[in-house]
Amino acid sequence: MILIDGKKIANDIRSEIKEKVEQIKFKTNSVPCLATILVGENPASRVYINSKIKACQECGVKSVHHNLKSNSSKEEIINLINQLNINPKISAILLQLPFSDAQTEQECINAISPNKDADGLHPFNAGLLTLFKSQKEISQNNVLTSCTPTGIIRLLQKSDIEIAGKTAVVAGRSNLVGKPASLLLLANDATVIMAHSKTKNLKELCKSADILITAVGKPQFINKDFIKDGAAVIDVGINRTENGLVGDIDFDSVKDMNIKITPVPGGVGPMTIAMLLENTLKAYRRNL
Ligand code: NAP
Repeated sequence: MILIDGKKIANDIRSEIKEKVEQIKFKTNSVPCLATILVGENPASRVYINSKIKACQECGVKSVHHNLKSNSSKEEIINLINQLNINPKISAILLQLPFSDAQTEQECINAISPNKDADGLHPFNAGLLTLFKSQKEISQNNVLTSCTPTGIIRLLQKSDIEIAGKTAVVAGRSNLVGKPASLLLLANDATVIMAHSKTKNLKELCKSADILITAVGKPQFINKDFIKDGAAVIDVGINRTENGLVGDIDFDSVKDMNIKITPVPGGVGPMTIAMLLENTLKAYRRNL
């Protein structure tokens, strides 16, 4: 087993971002600014927001945090988003998910200006991801793509794992991870199979994968019987158990296999934050 060190790859990207921010500051005497919004006090969401704010500070990106009460109305949240949309000092807006109500969540995402959409979840950006055929077109058009899937592609590229022509299986089809990860793999010329809770032959499909992405959210759900010899495995799952954080992969069962794999923690998580910083920079440029 070879570990894919997401923490190191993310740190290298963060150093590059820090340099770019310093150059922007030198040239313009301003820096990109990320506005973060947390509705309520979900402890896990609070931890995620804090690490995003800290990452901004470490890279010289400004951040402004808005904590709304858990009983805030949809109108109050959208009102705040509208103010941030028209504020020229704000480059990008991050709405911490999930919301308790999926309908409100989507309506609030829809209210974010597509040019300030730090998470790449606005229907306009999600739509562009489906329309552009190749990664080259996506990159050239500065499309804001969802942070975790973008981080997955970057992990594969930085680990010299070939994507073009390979069979990729993505377990999970959420708008946040599974669906955009599948589309980005497709744009990078993989042959993609999207699996979900109604998939009948998950084990056989996963076993056919040169690249296996697991974004299911079930602790240690996938073991060695699902994985092909020589595969690259990206474990997106973050599951809190009595034994601490674990992924969707039963790590012990695969540790003697001939595979490349991301650990949990220290794999995809740090890349998500690095891609959020990249998106903030991208949004800054789009809003110039
Ligand atoms: P989600 O919205 O709950 O989606 C889970 C997906 O898994 C759904 O598409 C679901 O299928 C599928 N699924 C559930 N049971 C399955 C089964 N038995 N077989 C195959 N597929 C099954 O979760 P998410 O937001 O995508 O997140 C997934 C995991 O990634 C979570 O553990 C989350 O904490 C983690 N995550 C990590 C990061 C990071 O930065 N590392 C970022 C985001 C999320 P249906 O659509 O049919 O219900």
